Amino acid sequence: MEQGQPEGSGAGFLAPFRHFATQAVHAGQEPEQWRSLAVVPPISLSTTFKQAAPGKHSGFEYSRCGNPTRDCLEKAVAALDGAKYCLAYASGLAATLNIAHLLKAGDTVICTDDVYGGTNRYFRNIATQMGLKAVFVDCTKLECLEAAMTPQTKLVWIETPTNPMMKVIDIEACAKIVHKHKGAILAVDNTFMSAYFQRPLALGADICMYSATKYMNGHSDVVMGLVSLNDDAVHEKLRFLQYAIGAVPSPFDCYLCNRGLKTLPIRMKQHFQNALAVARFLESDPRVEKVLFPGLPSHPQYEVVKRQCTGCPGMISFYIKGNLENASTFLKSIKLFALAESLGGYESLAEHPAIMTHASVPKADREALGITDTLIRMSIGLEDPEDLLEDLAQALKAAVPDYKIRN
Ligand SMILES: *Cc1c(COP(=O)(O)O)cnc(C)c1O
Repeated sequence: MEQGQPEGSGAGFLAPFRHFATQAVHAGQEPEQWRSLAVVPPISLSTTFKQAAPGKHSGFEYSRCGNPTRDCLEKAVAALDGAKYCLAYASGLAATLNIAHLLKAGDTVICTDDVYGGTNRYFRNIATQMGLKAVFVDCTKLECLEAAMTPQTKLVWIETPTNPMMKVIDIEACAKIVHKHKGAILAVDNTFMSAYFQRPLALGADICMYSATKYMNGHSDVVMGLVSLNDDAVHEKLRFLQYAIGAVPSPFDCYLCNRGLKTLPIRMKQHFQNALAVARFLESDPRVEKVLFPGLPSHPQYEVVKRQCTGCPGMISFYIKGNLENASTFLKSIKLFALAESLGGYESLAEHPAIMTHASVPKADREALGITDTLIRMSIGLEDPEDLLEDLAQALKAAVPDYKIRN
């Protein structure tokens, strides 16, 4: 078994990224950057910075263009992604919007068909009003992506694993297809995996994006977006857009997210271990129809997962036996899990994608994807796994009566 994997996870995942925990603690955090030599980065609230002569500044002028606390966070994230640059935004969707602004009217974005509901809504209803064309394609099927590419395609947007169906996309193979087309770039929403389990840039992606609201901050108390990349010219454009569009995070939120990163490696290892325990439990329960978890050998793309990831986060979807009423009773019966949207925090959550997170996806599309009334999505937190299993067992019993599971 490789180092860094929970016991019994099955060998064969990509080896953990070297020096990750050390960089999570130290990258961008050098006390020498502060006059006080503070070991913990100060929260720099000042909106403006004194200049020695007109135009002669310390590197900081006005806080929307650059802020010391934000700078510190951006450096830390760049290191964790093995990237040259990182930019922070007021939310994950603000990051998506800034990336979309790299395009111009008449350009096409290809988006994988099973994405975060807000990303789908943004490309479908908002970006299209600004003259972009949005095409939705199942990018797990590489031949479909290849067929959809045109000279107008300037951005391909994927998310892996997908939300909420946990389909896995081969990033390296997508990058090869996208890069056959001049001027087209591949962006990967890496929110679910976090920097600890997956490095899209190393697999050939041009842009790695996060809703830092989830695992990267990890404490469900910050809304933020992050973008990492290596290309100098694209970085220059994004830096200008970050300042010109203005959707920047507050210094306090940057401080909290930077703090959250310190424990990212240990949190992710425990999320993986807890999720495996839950996924195995659900897979053996007669009240469960099917479990979707990329860390289980039963997952259809398990081989791709092992090749491109160092492990799996706490995201599990499953179909409960019965109908909407059974799903709804389950969600009302859980006690330790909170019935709530969002994911990636230390606390366990469960939700109903069709009614909650993915209500903005057209019903016909939802059904074609498999987002049905009996689908439940969970974010497995850091509680003791035996307590999580006990809560799930009682909620399943309350939701699906014995007679329903007898043959
Ligand atoms: C939450 C989420 C987003 C949107 O991020 P916000 O921080 O809520 O704006 C994008 N992608 C994924 C996968 C998400 O889970």
